[in-house]
Amino acid sequence: MINRKSREETKRMRHAGHIVALVHQKMKEVIEPGISTKELDDIAMKIIKENHAIPTFLGYQGFPASICASINEQVVHGIPSKDMILKEGDIISIDVGATYGGLVGDSAWTYPVGKVSQEVQRLLATTEESLFAGIAQMKEGNVLDDVSKAIEMVANREKFGIVRQYGGHGVGHNMHEDPFLFNYSVGDKTLLKTGMAIAIEPMLNLGVDDVEVAEDGWTVSTIDKKPSAHFEHTVMVTDGEPLILTQLMP
Ligand code: MG
Ligand code: MG
Repeated sequence: MINRKSREETKRMRHAGHIVALVHQKMKEVIEPGISTKELDDIAMKIIKENHAIPTFLGYQGFPASICASINEQVVHGIPSKDMILKEGDIISIDVGATYGGLVGDSAWTYPVGKVSQEVQRLLATTEESLFAGIAQMKEGNVLDDVSKAIEMVANREKFGIVRQYGGHGVGHNMHEDPFLFNYSVGDKTLLKTGMAIAIEPMLNLGVDDVEVAEDGWTVSTIDKKPSAHFEHTVMVTDGEPLILTQLMP
């Protein structure tokens, strides 16, 4: 059974999403060579708390921070550290969740640090494009596989690796709810209905699909050590256009 949100729940999710978007707005501003991922975490935590929300990631299955900060070949779940200092030419994926009034917003973005290579620029642009291709399929009457297929088509066109072990998910009172959303077609015929909220989050690699988890039990990296990008929005199906919950409110 897929959880469909009431009008009141939707309002609170939109608010949670707005707070997540505020964090990303700030990240875009402050990410530059010389800053540590711990400093980024502190900034994110401050914004979330100032806005009367709870950092969803902090303590989630023991995760020790408010954001995941994953550099270059790191795909997701990187742990912020004062020893991880950004340098020119890096890319950094920031994933952040906020819980407001008991409901969750979840969004990730990969940022260039200074100037990055052309092929990395293409990886970022394509991963972002695949996210929006997926979002466009979030319509009443479509099935979940339409979202997966749209993401996969964009990735395949550019011959990028698609991370297979991780994917999108339903969002609501919990960060991870049913259904799981694959970033490639598996034929899931789950019907999309108004009020369903799903985090769509393609993770594309410059090289092969395969990833591995580091000894810290969290950090996921590509096995060929080539860069990976991650773009995510929490999106709701409505009776009209898909509603991106994790964007700034007007
Ligand atoms: Mg996320
Ligand atoms: Mg997510």
